[in-house]
Amino acid sequence: MRNWGVVQGCGLCGERDETRDHLFFACPYSFTVWEKLVRGFFGRRTNPDWTATLSMIAGRRRNRLDSILIKMVFQMTIYHVWRERNERRHQMTWKTADQLHKIIDKTMRNRIASLKYKGQHQNAGLLQRCFELSG
Ligand SMILES: [Zn+2]
Repeated sequence: MRNWGVVQGCGLCGERDETRDHLFFACPYSFTVWEKLVRGFFGRRTNPDWTATLSMIAGRRRNRLDSILIKMVFQMTIYHVWRERNERRHQMTWKTADQLHKIIDKTMRNRIASLKYKGQHQNAGLLQRCFELSG
């Protein structure tokens, strides 16, 4: 669209120019959702900048569970923010940042629970760790 000279506004916050960098996560709406989800990982270091976000996700973690969780939450946030953006564009539904945060958080827990890691499995503590991080 951009190449044809069409500039679309952000359907989430009303910003004039909707770019990837704006949606993830310079947009106040998506940043609110993202910041709440990753507070347990990054605390106050959470950054609205796309490149900074990617390098924080790729950065070294203390343990494998956190490394798995941060990648999951990142993927899910991208997916759900994009879906929310499309739903608004087609005027289907309209969720608040708080509602979207809850949906992603719940989806994460359900996804991990469905993996059914048990006992000695190296990912057995994933759900427990997810609860610790999201509070
Ligand atoms: Zn926006």
